[in-house]
This record gives sequence, structure tokens and C-alpha cells, in this order.
Amino acid sequence: MPDNPNSKIQSTILSSEAKIVSLTSEMIEIASPTGQEGKMAAWLTEWLRSNNFKTESFEIDPATMEKTHKDTFFRWHFPYADRPNILGKLKGTGNGKSLMINFHLDVVDASPDDWGVDPWKGTVKGDALFGRGACDMKGGAAAALFAIKTISDLGIRLKGDVLVAGVIEEEGPGNGTLALQAKGITADACIIPEPTNLTLAVGVTGGIYGFISLTGKSAHSTTPWNGVNAVEKAFHIQKGLESWKKTRKDIPLDPLFIDEPETRTAAHIVSIDRTDGGLVGKIPSSACVMVRSTVMPGEDPDEMIKAFEKTMVAQTIKDPWLAEHPPIFTWIKMEGRNRPAELSQDHPLSRCLKKSYERVIGAAPKYTGLVSPADMQQLMNIQPTTPTLMFGPGSIYQAHTDDEFVPIKELVQTSAVIADFIVNWCEIS
Ligand SMILES: [Zn+2]
Repeated sequence: MPDNPNSKIQSTILSSEAKIVSLTSEMIEIASPTGQEGKMAAWLTEWLRSNNFKTESFEIDPATMEKTHKDTFFRWHFPYADRPNILGKLKGTGNGKSLMINFHLDVVDASPDDWGVDPWKGTVKGDALFGRGACDMKGGAAAALFAIKTISDLGIRLKGDVLVAGVIEEEGPGNGTLALQAKGITADACIIPEPTNLTLAVGVTGGIYGFISLTGKSAHSTTPWNGVNAVEKAFHIQKGLESWKKTRKDIPLDPLFIDEPETRTAAHIVSIDRTDGGLVGKIPSSACVMVRSTVMPGEDPDEMIKAFEKTMVAQTIKDPWLAEHPPIFTWIKMEGRNRPAELSQDHPLSRCLKKSYERVIGAAPKYTGLVSPADMQQLMNIQPTTPTLMFGPGSIYQAHTDDEFVPIKELVQTSAVIADFIVNWCEIS
């Protein structure tokens, strides 16, 4: 073991910019849009094995999950064969705290024609690395993996176990992490290297997702006065949504979201569809409006649903037809994505990461909340729970965009902070 392991770890990482960029690029080059995570899973297994991890892989069995997690598991669009979750374990020497690094193997898809660079290739331009997943979240994953590798390569053994979970379908209902929990996998702490701009994201929002069914009356399309157009009635849902957003402005602003005050009022129509199967010759006799509204940390999604429906009914009742034919609400139950989560800033995980940040960066970190859903929701809300926060390079404003990038300096800083955290949390043996 080196004389001063901490400083050796730091100097190694801070002089390894090219290697961290290359590891991130290697991951970007394995295209893994949700539904096609198989190759990324195989790559991670190989990486973990060559870094002394014991690995296991397991596919999601939707039929079982529907039985055991009926309020949480929401079957997504893709079959589950050949896209396993990967779990790696680097066993500690004992008597130490365990850590899970959890990251998603999937990315959102990319349309190469809309990009200025090849999305499925890591491209360095100036001080940033471009490519799909650069910030969300192959960059953060590579930074964390490099931190672990540096510690191991220096011959440093840890007391606590280090788990690496590469999960599928995070860009969706979060069934990958849910399946991990269904297997009883937990740790004393978890860091998810999502793009948080190097802030300590200790909060994450939830969301309610619902369908509003509207009834109209069929008629020949050339005699619309004989019918009631159900699609046009969606106008009243839009009006209701505007009132809803006004009421949301009155809730106190969570300090974690001080830079994004609009988060609490975020609500929108996802889609409007006619559902009567008719074509152009028929006035739509039924329609379905899908809506979403953000749930802030501390709020209860079930209470929010009641309030939302009340606001919507108050608006739609003003229309004589809708007063007679009230909208019907159906809500998607997926506890992991409905419910927000928050980790106390006084939790040992928050405090330990804060100290690592201060040592490496030389300033106090900022605490924030992530505006988007993330698997911190699953880990904090679904049994067995694991204390979790998110910390990683790049911005959520870059995630899911064309020409996604991550600042290279932040990749290196993330790796250095996580490495410092690992040796302090898991302790050198
Ligand atoms: Zn992400």
C-alpha cells in the first residue's frame, strides 16, 4: 500500500483525465437506448470481472414483479429478455460500511441527423466530451468506476463492501432498481452519479401520471351540430390545468429547488387521443387526455391526486355537457416514480460526501434537488430501502438533448470526490 494512500489516489485521478475520457467514450460507443441495454450489461460484467468484482446478472421477470410489487412495477414497452441488471460486489475485509454505486445502463435514444457530432461516439471539443450519455449518465458512471479502479490498482483494500449496480430501464419506470430491491439488495449508502453539476442532490421529485377520459356524442363529421366532439372538450382540461398551476404557485418553495422555482408548478398535457376508433368521417365520441404533474419532496402523491381532480372538476363543471358527462380519472400506480424522496443533510452519507467534496474541491458544496425522476425514488421509498443521494458531472439541462455533453473537468472532479468518499466511508483496511 502507498505511504499516503489518500494523496496517491488523488494525484493518480487528477492526472488521469485522458483515461477517464477514454473510459466514458468507450461506454458512449455502446449504444444502449432503453430496451437495448444488453451490450452495455455485457461490457459492465467484463469490466467488473477484470477489476476483481464478483458479478451476477439477472433479468426482470415481469409476471413475478406484477404479483410481488403491484403498486410499484409498471410494465414498460420492451420485453425483458437479454437485457439484465448487473450487480458487482468487491468484498471488503469486514467491519466496514458498505456502499452501492448505482447507475443506469440505458440512455434515451438519439437521432443522428439532429446532432452536430456522432451521438454514438465520444467526441472531445474544447473542454467538453460530447455523445449520448456523456452526462446522463455514462460520464458519471465512468467517473465512479475509475475511482474504484484507482483504489484497487494501488493495492488498497477496504473494510466495507463496494457494490456496483448497473440497472436497466431507468429512463422509464425504474424497474431495474426495483428488481434489485426485489432481490433484497441493499447497502449502508448509495451514490447515483446522475448529472447534478457537482451539487449534492439530496432531493428528487415525484410525479402523478393520469388519464382523463372524456365522453362526447357521435355524429357524421359534416353535421357536427348533431354531436359533441370529445377531443374538443380537452380544451376544458387545458383550462383546468392552468388553474392547477396557479394553485401550485402557493406552495412554499423548497430551498433545494431555489434555482428552479417552476418545478413545483410543472404540469402538462402529455397527449390527447380520440379513443372511439373513428376516422375523419365521424365526430370523436370519446377521447383520452394524459396528464402529468410534479410532486415535490414532502408531498404525498395520493393527496395531490385528490386536489388535482377537485381543481379539474371545478373547471369542467362549467361546461354544461361535461357537467352532465363528468370526466373519468385513472391514475398510474408506480410508487417508485410517484413518490418524491429526500435524504437529510445531516445523514452520515451527506456529511461524509460533503467532507470529501470540501477536501477535493476546496469549497463548500451546494445542496440541491433533482427536478427529474431518478432511481433515488426507488431506493429511498421501496423496501429494502437504502440511504441515497445523487452526485455527478454535467447538467440535467444537457441530459436527453441533441449534442449532449459533459465538462471534462467535472468528470475528473467527480471521480476524485467519489474516490475520497469511498476510502472514508468504507475505510482502508
Ligand atoms: Zn439519468
